[in-house]
Amino acid sequence: MAGNKNLSFEFFPPRNDEALDELAKTAKDLGQLNPEFFSVTFGAGGSSQNKTLETVLKTRSATNLNVAPHLTCVGSNKENIKALLDEYQSHGIDHLVCLRGDIPSGLMHPGEFMHASDLVSFIREHSGEHFTIDVASYPEPHPESSSPDEDIKHFINKAKAGANSSITQYFYNVDAYLYFVDKVRAEGLDIPIVPGIMPITNYKGLLRFSNACGAEIPRWIQLRLEAYQDDKDSLIAFGEDVVTNLCQQLIDNDVPGLHFYSMNKSAPTLNICSNLDLA
Ligand SMILES: Cc1cc2nc3c(=O)[nH]c(=O)nc-3n(C[C@H](O)[C@H](O)[C@H](O)COP(=O)(O)OP(=O)(O)OC[C@H]3O[C@@H](n4cnc5c(N)ncnc54)[C@H](O)[C@@H]3O)c2cc1C
Repeated sequence: MAGNKNLSFEFFPPRNDEALDELAKTAKDLGQLNPEFFSVTFGAGGSSQNKTLETVLKTRSATNLNVAPHLTCVGSNKENIKALLDEYQSHGIDHLVCLRGDIPSGLMHPGEFMHASDLVSFIREHSGEHFTIDVASYPEPHPESSSPDEDIKHFINKAKAGANSSITQYFYNVDAYLYFVDKVRAEGLDIPIVPGIMPITNYKGLLRFSNACGAEIPRWIQLRLEAYQDDKDSLIAFGEDVVTNLCQQLIDNDVPGLHFYSMNKSAPTLNICSNLDLA
């Protein structure tokens, strides 16, 4: 990792105007770390989708930094995706994080795109090389995958469809990341695989989310978080220690960057970056 150019910070679209203003402040705080880009999530299957562009534009004008919208394809069709791509391009947006999205319960048909690889191919077909494309990867395999090797095969196909780089699901097992990268490199794929970092600031939310997305919380971490759940200060201090150590090990292993799932808060990420002398 060379300098702060390889940091990126992820936000989700805030629910109301007040929270959008607060997020602009968070972005300014994190912008002081001179990240390569911010990204803004996109709600699969509806809800917050039109808020993504609003959040991208507001964050960009608050910071003058590059902001990449996420784009999911589940339940969508080519016409919708085309319209979004053209709109993004008309706003000077040139970086996307492309995903399938989690399949909403009750969705009977995935739409015209079965997998993120279909979306990436379609973007290259429609928009050529205009967009830099990031895709997701899963050092602890994706929960729906039939086997770890199949998951890697699908990741490689997705990258070959036209992705420039990848951001991983968050993890707390460095070995899982290093093993995954080795396996991918052995298959001849050399795009950057940037670890996704989830700061730890609460116990129950992290547990729920980790169960859903297949990220393992090692037992020793889980037991301590459980013990600290009524002692917010100890939990936050412990979480900061754990994630700082995780990032340090990753940096020692020459990762191409760090992508923080900021949860729209600046302090947890800033503290970790400051511990790592990145601030
Ligand atoms: C960095 C990052 C950002 C994210 N941002 C968002 C967001 O903004 N909004 C959101 O809703 N979700 C987001 N997610 C969650 C993501 O949408 C889910 O993890 C989703 O379940 C999978 O998306 P994917 O793009 O990895 O899908 P895919 O790459 O399509 O993979 C999904 C599953 O299908 C399998 N698969 C892939 N191709 C094939 C094939 N050809 N045949 C059979 N099986 C196949 C894979 O092995 C995997 O199990 C994000 C995840 C990450 C890691």
